[in-house]
Amino acid sequence: MLRLFDSVHGEVRDLRLRDPGRISMYVCGPTVYDLPHIGHGRQTLVWDVARRWFTFRGYDVRFVSNITDIDDNIINRATRDNTTEAAVAREFEDEWWSAMTAIGAAMPDDIPHATQYVAQMVDLIASFLDSGVAYPTSDGIYFDVSRVPDYGLLAGQPLESLRAGARVEANDEKRSPLDFALWKNAKPDEPSWPAPFGAGRPGWHTECVVMSLGLLGDDFDLHCGGFDLKFPHHENERAQAVAAGRPFARHWAHHGWVMVGNEKMSKSLGNFTSLTDLLEKTDARAYRLLVLRSHYRSPIEVTPATIADAERALERLDSLARRFDLPSLAGDMLEEGSHYAWEGEALDLYDRVATKLDDDLDTPLAVAQLFEALGAANAAADRGDETEARTLATAVNLLFAAMGLALDAGADDVDPASADLVSRRDAARSVKDWAEADRLRDELVALGWVVEDSADGTLIRRP
Ligand SMILES: [Zn+2]
Repeated sequence: MLRLFDSVHGEVRDLRLRDPGRISMYVCGPTVYDLPHIGHGRQTLVWDVARRWFTFRGYDVRFVSNITDIDDNIINRATRDNTTEAAVAREFEDEWWSAMTAIGAAMPDDIPHATQYVAQMVDLIASFLDSGVAYPTSDGIYFDVSRVPDYGLLAGQPLESLRAGARVEANDEKRSPLDFALWKNAKPDEPSWPAPFGAGRPGWHTECVVMSLGLLGDDFDLHCGGFDLKFPHHENERAQAVAAGRPFARHWAHHGWVMVGNEKMSKSLGNFTSLTDLLEKTDARAYRLLVLRSHYRSPIEVTPATIADAERALERLDSLARRFDLPSLAGDMLEEGSHYAWEGEALDLYDRVATKLDDDLDTPLAVAQLFEALGAANAAADRGDETEARTLATAVNLLFAAMGLALDAGADDVDPASADLVSRRDAARSVKDWAEADRLRDELVALGWVVEDSADGTLIRRP
């Protein structure tokens, strides 16, 4: 049984699925007007790992994530860059997917674009006007949150205390500061769509409720996003579903922040300015490993120091792959775990890792188990127990791949100086100059390498 923290109930709960064996999940996607930032990367990684793990556990997962391709930021950017909103959205959606592909995220099964669902949004808003849940003002159509009895469920606060805390807004036509825009009336030179209640464009909260229900249907399983989306975005999505009489997400799951230190520090420490920037400077797998080593609900710090730490851990994994010549299981979603042979030590390891991941996706504990197994595999090989060593190493490789992290046996991370020592040592051995070969071996060991002799010559790996 999969368990996940449910934001409505504030506790880890069994994932009770609409259809046994199937998981429908919706992740709020980006508004495309700029390069994806580091936090976007974490969001994508967290839910990519969840999706991959659920699939590995034998569930048939349908994964939907939207693109918001019209909003104020896109309009402002188009004005600034002297181009069209559509061109801005296209450019930054391309940037989004190339960055997300680079961090090894599988593409969603469906990628709804807000501008393709405007007709359905107009229908929903019209029905709210009919039932009196929505009302017009001079700048658009608003949703009356007082019409939803349990408004505040996701915020964890009743309507009254939310209202007391809400900031006073410029628009005094709103009945409550918590009421939100379903529709923004057309302004000159802005993109707009026709509607019986006047041309305009949809509000963000309306986009997601229409697209999630439209693709996944009533009562879908899992609605995901960052903690910052809980209120008001998810609250307002849910309020509209309730007002429309449609059962909405069965579970709500939210992931934690990314910290980059304060802004002053970020410059002097050479922090990453965007996900694209980070990917230019590091192996993308290091970011995934950093994300895996923290619980998805905890904040993480993404700085050159934490990334460097993850790179060192990654090097230990890659050296395992080199030692056992493990295949790289990159990219594609794995088949479900039961299709693989699990025996002895490997079965034990799989059970231990599955226990952690099935229980609220405890990736840090799962990763710790896998690193322990890595040590055991190397120790077994050192004492000559080739079967046990290989069984464990193969299982470690497979279980990391089940979380989307591919080990890489490629030797391209050997620096030129070390590579030079290796070729000089091979040359010395070929002329039986054992003293020189030993001296070069010592030099390599001093650089932190484990040196082995093989039929093909000198092999080096990290311990
Ligand atoms: Zn959303």
